[in-house]
Amino acid sequence: MSELIELTAAQAAERIHHGDVSAAELFEAYRTRAAADGDDLNAFTWVADGPAAEAPSGAPLAGVPLAVKDLFCTEGVPSQSGSKILEGYEPPYTATVVAKLAQAGTTLLGKTNQDEFAMGSSNENSAFGPVRNPWDRTRVPGGSSGGSAAAVAAGLAPWALGTDTGGSIRQPAALCGIVGLKPTYGAISRYGMIAFASSLDQAGPFTRDVTDAALLLRHMVGQDACDSTSLAFPGEIELPKGVDLRGIKLGVPEELTGEGIESGVREAFNRTLALAEQLGASVETCTLPHAPHALNAYYLIAPAEASANLARFDGVRYGLRVDADDLLGMYTQTREAGFGAEVKRRIMLGTYALSSGYYDAYYGRAQQVRTKVADDFRAAFERFDLLVTPTAPSVAFRLGEKVDDPLAMYLSDVFTIGANLAGIPGLTVPVGLAGTSPRLPRAVQLLGPMDAEPLLLRAGRAIEVRGDTARLARDHETEFAWPGR
Ligand code: GLN
Repeated sequence: MSELIELTAAQAAERIHHGDVSAAELFEAYRTRAAADGDDLNAFTWVADGPAAEAPSGAPLAGVPLAVKDLFCTEGVPSQSGSKILEGYEPPYTATVVAKLAQAGTTLLGKTNQDEFAMGSSNENSAFGPVRNPWDRTRVPGGSSGGSAAAVAAGLAPWALGTDTGGSIRQPAALCGIVGLKPTYGAISRYGMIAFASSLDQAGPFTRDVTDAALLLRHMVGQDACDSTSLAFPGEIELPKGVDLRGIKLGVPEELTGEGIESGVREAFNRTLALAEQLGASVETCTLPHAPHALNAYYLIAPAEASANLARFDGVRYGLRVDADDLLGMYTQTREAGFGAEVKRRIMLGTYALSSGYYDAYYGRAQQVRTKVADDFRAAFERFDLLVTPTAPSVAFRLGEKVDDPLAMYLSDVFTIGANLAGIPGLTVPVGLAGTSPRLPRAVQLLGPMDAEPLLLRAGRAIEVRGDTARLARDHETEFAWPGR
C-alpha cells in the first residue's frame, strides 16, 4: 500500500505544505483506491473520474481529498440521498459546508453511499445496495452514513463528511472503529443538505483520529445567511494537544449504561472509565430521568419532519417521474416507485402523527418529551463537564440480521438520539477491538453541553492516545491496523 495512504489528513496537509508530497499525487492514490472500492464495500456512489481541480493556493487543507455523503448537494455531481427518486440528480449548486471545505483546500474525491434519505442504522436501506463493514464483510457498517464510515475505516479516503439526525455519524463511526463527531445543532450550515428532519440534522466529520476531526470541524463551522438556524461558533477550534483529563468531571448516566449492552461493549466501556480516572478525571454516576423516552419521541418527531420535507419529491421538480393519465396519478406513482420501504414507513408514521385529531396526542406530546430530555442534559451539565456512554449497544451486527425488525433496528440508536433532541455535541472515540476472529471495533460516546466541542476533542484525544484506541485510530505512537490490510 502506498505510504501516502498511511498519513492522517493533518499529516498529509503538512507534507503538501512542505513540498514533500504533491496534492495531485495524494488525490490519485486515493482516487485509485476509491474507484477499486476496497474489495466491494460499496462505499461510494460516485468517484471522481480524473484529477481534482486545484485547491486555492495557500489553502490550509492543501488539496487533501474528501469523501462526501451522497445527501450533500454538489454542483454537477450526482446527489441522490441514497434514493431511487433522486437517481442521477445533479444539483445546480453546492452545499455551504462542502463549498467552505473546498475553499479551505479539500478536493472532492467521491460521494458516499448511505441509507435512503438518511433513514437507517445499518446502511441496508440504500437504493444503491448495502455497504459492507471493512472489518467483516458479512456485517453492516452502521448507518445512515455507512459509506463515509466504511471508506475512512478502509483507507479509501483520508476523511469524510456525514450527517447525524439520531446517531448516523456516531454509530457508524463506532461500528467501523473510527472517530465521528456530531457538532452542536446550528454550528454548521445545513444549506444544501437534502433534509431528513430539519430540527435534528447536523453535518460532521468522520476521521481516523481526533486531531483530524478537530481540523475538519474548524473549517466547517460558521454562520450562513442561507441557513437561519446556523450560529457563529464562539472561538476557533484548536487542535487538541494535552493527553490527560485532569480537572474534568465525567458523568455516567445510569439510564444509558444499564441493560441491553453487549458484554464486550460493556467491558470496553468500564475499562475506559478506569482509564479516565487514571488520566485525572473524576467519574460519577448521574441521572437523565427522561432519557428512556427519547427514542419514542424521536420516532414521532423525525418522521413528522420527514413527511413534510419529503413532500417536495413529486415527480415535477427533481429526479424520477412516472408518467400517468393525470397529475395525481403521476404524483402517487412516482412516489410509489421512487421511495423505498423504510421511507414509506416514516412518511406514514409522520403523516399520522401530524394529522388533525392525533397531533396533540403524538407530535405535541413528543415535543414536550423533547423539552424534558433537553432539560435533563442541562441539569446534568451543571454538575458535570461531559457525560460518557457506549456509542451503540452492540458491535457491528450481521447484514440482514435486523432488516425485518424495525424496532430492533431503531434500538441501535438508544444512546445517541438524546443528543439530537437536545442539540448538544457528541463524539465517538474507538476504544479497542473485541473478539478474536473477526475482531470488531468498540467505542464510547462523549457528550458535552452546546459549543463544548473543544473540550470533547481534548478528552477524546486523551482517551485515544492513552487508551487502547491508539491501536485503532491512526496514531504515530503505536501500531495501526487497517481492517483487511
Ligand atoms: N437510525 C436513525 C434513523 O433511522 C438515525 C438516522 C440518522 O441519524 N440520520 O432515523
